[in-house]
Amino acid sequence: MAFGVKSRDLTKDDSTLAFLASYAKKSKDSIRPQFRHGLGIVYEIEGLDLSVDRIKTYEEEKLLSIAGTAAYPSCPKCASLLLAVRLNCPDCKKTSLARSEIMIHYECEYSAPVEEFVSPKDAEYVCPKCSKHMKRVGIEYGKPGIGFKCQDCGRVFQYPLVNIACQGGHESRIDEIDLKAFPVYRVNEEIQSFTEVADYFMLIQKVLTTGMGAKSEVLGRVKGASGVTHIFPLVVDGERKVVVDFILDESGFDAKILQKILRGADLKHVVLLFVPESLVGRLASIVNPEKIKLLAVSADSSPESIAAEIKKIVG
Ligand SMILES: [Zn+2]
Ligand SMILES: [Zn+2]
Ligand SMILES: [Zn+2]
Repeated sequence: MAFGVKSRDLTKDDSTLAFLASYAKKSKDSIRPQFRHGLGIVYEIEGLDLSVDRIKTYEEEKLLSIAGTAAYPSCPKCASLLLAVRLNCPDCKKTSLARSEIMIHYECEYSAPVEEFVSPKDAEYVCPKCSKHMKRVGIEYGKPGIGFKCQDCGRVFQYPLVNIACQGGHESRIDEIDLKAFPVYRVNEEIQSFTEVADYFMLIQKVLTTGMGAKSEVLGRVKGASGVTHIFPLVVDGERKVVVDFILDESGFDAKILQKILRGADLKHVVLLFVPESLVGRLASIVNPEKIKLLAVSADSSPESIAAEIKKIVG
């Protein structure tokens, strides 16, 4: 996917943006940590598994923000997430258990797996302890359900001890297990809002590149005086570098314009701000014309006409 012309300032980052924008376009879901056997925790975006460290750099670059946390059980001794459940005998603590349907002879109170009561000679059940025949369920014998028998000490029980063993061999009881929290991410709102109109920006970029020979970049990143990296729908390199931004509808307009003015003040570049025609007059008195140049855009402005306006200013 040809997303943006590579410019001097960015090498790998434009593909990151395209990658996240493409994800955000398809999915509004948060990006949750997932446990992969052999890999540990990963974050899957567009079919790629990203490590915890890698996704953290996206957060630091303000491409993603934290939307919550998800906790995973971990070994309290070594923090490993590779855990397995171990079922142990409550008496001898060994793990050689067999699971089966349990039978109990009421008279002698012997209980064991059903198989032990099956006699090779008789059609009836025979108690292996007292050798009595058992005919009537509920009167002579009962079947309380599924249980476990320890092959080592012979104990029969309904609930085994549940232990958790890590890859390193540490065993812990369930109540000793630690929880390790990992962030749940969502794509930064800035990128989210761009994705809705990204196709339109791509068309403008195409006209700028092929028709006018101007280098430009969709979802370009520009570092402000404050050190913050801003992301713009289009960054155009001409005789001078300008950034192009849009307000395409009036909803939430006050907050949008404030954000754009603050951003403009942080940049040494001129911002070309396309706004609905009805807003051009209202905004003219608010924005510093040296910093933000207002241009009218309407629902039927063609990418060609926008590109032409940009080219006029870029030179
Ligand atoms: Zn461990
Ligand atoms: Zn045992
Ligand atoms: Zn018996």
